[in-house]
Amino acid sequence: MIKVYRKPPQAFPTESAFFRLPGTLLMVLDEDFNIQMMSEAWADVLGYDQPSLRWRPFVGLIHPHDRRSVVERLQRMDAALSTFRFACRCQHADGHYVGLAWSASLDPEHHLYYVSAHETGVLLQSEAGSLPEVLIDGLTGLPNRGLFVDRIGHALERAKRDSQLRFAVVHCGVDRFSVINHSLGNRIGDLLLVELANLFRRSTRPTDMVARLGGDEFGILLEDIRDETSPIRVIKRLQSQCKLPFQLHGHEVLASLSAGMTLSAPDYQEADALLRDAGMAIRRAKTQGGGAHVIFDRKLHEEAFSRLDLELDLRRALEREQIEVYYQPIMRVRDRRLVGFEALARWNHPERGLVSPARFIPLAEESGLIVPIGRWILERACTDLKRWQLAYPRRPALTVSVNLSARQIAYPDLLKDIRLSLRRSGLAARHLKLEITESGMLDDAERAIELFVALKRSRLKLLLDDFGTGYSSLSYLHRLPIDALKIDRSFIEHIDDRPTDRSFVETILTLARQLGLEVICEGVERPEQESLLRVLGASHVQGFMYSRPVTATQAEMLILQDQHRPGSILSNAGKAPESGH
Ligand code: C2E
Ligand code: MG
Ligand code: MG
Repeated sequence: MIKVYRKPPQAFPTESAFFRLPGTLLMVLDEDFNIQMMSEAWADVLGYDQPSLRWRPFVGLIHPHDRRSVVERLQRMDAALSTFRFACRCQHADGHYVGLAWSASLDPEHHLYYVSAHETGVLLQSEAGSLPEVLIDGLTGLPNRGLFVDRIGHALERAKRDSQLRFAVVHCGVDRFSVINHSLGNRIGDLLLVELANLFRRSTRPTDMVARLGGDEFGILLEDIRDETSPIRVIKRLQSQCKLPFQLHGHEVLASLSAGMTLSAPDYQEADALLRDAGMAIRRAKTQGGGAHVIFDRKLHEEAFSRLDLELDLRRALEREQIEVYYQPIMRVRDRRLVGFEALARWNHPERGLVSPARFIPLAEESGLIVPIGRWILERACTDLKRWQLAYPRRPALTVSVNLSARQIAYPDLLKDIRLSLRRSGLAARHLKLEITESGMLDDAERAIELFVALKRSRLKLLLDDFGTGYSSLSYLHRLPIDALKIDRSFIEHIDDRPTDRSFVETILTLARQLGLEVICEGVERPEQESLLRVLGASHVQGFMYSRPVTATQAEMLILQDQHRPGSILSNAGKAPESGH
């Protein structure tokens, strides 16, 4: 029986009871494992006050049966292994034992170990026997990550002794779980996780371990397998079962599951490494659009390292002025006049050549580098545009669109940065447009909406980019203070030969007209597409037919050309591959 307490009960319970730790338990050990320092929350959990624990050997608190393995593992740590987890029973001041899960990391320079305890502990009814499942996830009742890693460790030890024994570590996660949470609420999200936990438990053998790794992510350890076919069968079975709707408090919810898997191999020394590789595989699976599975192999590893290389290079790219802004014209359909540009980032890498934003923007997002890069692009775009406005004062003022990604939207000083760029360049706020995608707002839709309202108040224009590719486009439309939609290239591509694409675009154009929104159609490459869009009443277009993204110097030529011979950009068509390099 599991009972969840906020604080450990004072009286010793008659059965093992789980409780949430009152705060992070932190402890610093010296190289002989003496406690140098620990957080106050300790007093609540183990009944000792701080002074009485200080300078005592940590080992003295550990249950004699668990002592050796903990010491061995601490001694085996080295600087290369950033953290490792272990579980052990610690003795309370009044004699009984508390099971705790720990994470340890080593500071080799100062010979100190930083040790912290995880969310859940358990008061043990009896100190005998082996360590019970101290690390149970409170929501699903599944073992948590700490215990999962521990079990992988055991499997690894067994496999080392008997080379015939093989096992697989599967890491799976719900695709777009944040959308479910945002649209249906956290309570339904939680219920879905509980249902999934039950499904996973039901669909695996009793000897397999299913654990909750955190958030919407689960781990499955499949032991005693012959090859990869049986874990793949398990994954496929789970994926197809998830597709059946879950009935959650009157809501019918469909879930799709991505999975990554790694198989035991003689060169695995640490449990963490198996979980890391399964994690790498699921990340790859997620890029395949959901519902996919990927088996880890060396290639993935190499790719991960090359990404790391690229990330290091990207860090230096800004200082070395390798990030450039290219401009792609936005045209008015009626008279094919140039009305503005979209600013598109390019990375001019000395060895790799021109790196596409599709490759480096996601990397910049993950590493947080998107904030300084985005700031720089904004600054350049505002400055270039103001310069052009001043150089060609007689033509209607051009606008510039700058893309914003999720991390930028979440960045607290974004508004300040934008205002600063406007002030420095002298560009009027109404000539700056910001392009956002729905996926960019998903992590915190409420905050994003708040920010957009503030941006609108500053008279900036907002565009919803890649429209039609998102999850719940229409439901957002009335809530977002946007001025324009950009219909994604994928709908324009076959607009003249796929009736469904044509009716999608037609419907969106009608809807936008009713909502008073401007529409820009992206990716126009052929005159047939343009003619059809004109018939359907589209007002603005952008695409290779008019020009590819070009350098600032080339963009200025396009302005000149448009000024002297309106409609002439098309004849130039910038059809050559991106030039300037
Ligand atoms: P996006 O904002 O939807 O930009 C439009 C993309 O479509 C650009 O790709 C553009 O070169 C391409 N494109 C335009 N017309 C055509 C066409 O006729 N045919 C085809 N096949 N493609 C066309 P690009 O420059 O590679 O950028 C890709 C994405 O990277 C952008 O999609 C945007 O989401 C992101 N991105 C680019 N620059 C930035 C930036 O400065 N900040 C952020 N946060 N994201 C950026
Ligand atoms: Mg864009
Ligand atoms: Mg787009």
